[in-house]
Amino acid sequence: MNSFKKNEIEEIYGITDILATGCEMPADDFESIEDQVANCTKCPLHKGRTNTVFGEGNLNADLMFIGEGPGYDEDQQGRPFVGEAGKKLTDMISAMTLDRKDVYIANIVKCRPPGNRAPFEDESEACIPYLYKQIERVKPKVIVCLGAVPTQNLLKNKIPISKQRGKFTDYKGIKVMPTFHPAYFLRNPKMKRPVWEDLQMVMEILGLKR
Ligand code: SF4
Repeated sequence: MNSFKKNEIEEIYGITDILATGCEMPADDFESIEDQVANCTKCPLHKGRTNTVFGEGNLNADLMFIGEGPGYDEDQQGRPFVGEAGKKLTDMISAMTLDRKDVYIANIVKCRPPGNRAPFEDESEACIPYLYKQIERVKPKVIVCLGAVPTQNLLKNKIPISKQRGKFTDYKGIKVMPTFHPAYFLRNPKMKRPVWEDLQMVMEILGLKR
């Protein structure tokens, strides 16, 4: 069973409780961070980019997804999760009874690593302050980290994702759910079920009905 298709969910009730209110960072400050990213040369990844991929979505979202970095399609379009893995993420969001515009989506690094390799530690360290600002602005109730790179970088550990997934942890008072990256379960369909189980725990916290 494909757990992420909207038409396979038993019931969809809507998103009654999903929007948070208020934020402390002024909108113009946040826009200036997006400008800084667009012109950033803090790490070598800037040399190969076509576009920076800042992130997108609802700045008042209760739910934020964090991925690793842009791939080919994202680099071309300047938007996060728009390739094959992005379609899976969209399915995941739909299965949670949400739409992409209800959530916020960002990555650890904002420029595409060559050949879609994982970002090096110094690249992630150079870029992650932008992500901290995004988290500070959105103030989500829950962050879902998609794969090892975002999980280990946000939580500052080296624990394999297989050992971290499915358990809530904390980042500055925000609940963090590590799970597998959609590209991983595209290659390993059996992994779809554990991801769905992780997302169901997130839905429970957010009061989303299935
Ligand atoms: S990946 Fe991040 S730190 Fe590196 S150049 Fe791009 S925006 Fe700057």
